[in-house]
Amino acid sequence: MTDSNCLFCKIIAGEIPSAKVYENEYVYAFKDINPQAPVHILVIPREHITSAAVINSDNSVWVSRCYEAIAEIAKQENLVGGFRVVSNAGADAGQTVFHLHFHILAGERLSDHMA
Ligand code: AMP
Ligand code: ZN
Repeated sequence: MTDSNCLFCKIIAGEIPSAKVYENEYVYAFKDINPQAPVHILVIPREHITSAAVINSDNSVWVSRCYEAIAEIAKQENLVGGFRVVSNAGADAGQTVFHLHFHILAGERLSDHMA
């Protein structure tokens, strides 16, 4: 399912340009437009799911697919020093795009504080 008003659904459809890093049948990954680390990649499922707050046993396979892609991307991008995965859900976390996504942050020693 897609949502015609959703920015990330539009990116998947190619209606809005993005800097592709990786894609497969289930997942699309691209560079964040406002990077917060030397490497900042967004990993999104091709299914429109609003956030981590609505994951259940019917749709959790999309989370697995994202994490399988994350491991592939870490190899492809040679993130040998490590990386951090973040998924913001809801207002307190500052979620701005309501299509489930995982930030991959890497390329430097990341803060010891996660929030
Ligand atoms: P969040 O705040 O967790 O919802 O993350 C949304 C992310 O999407 C932010 O880090 C934005 O910089 C990023 N973003 C917004 N629009 C675009 C775009 N057109 N291309 C790439 N990244 C984007
Ligand atoms: Zn969407």
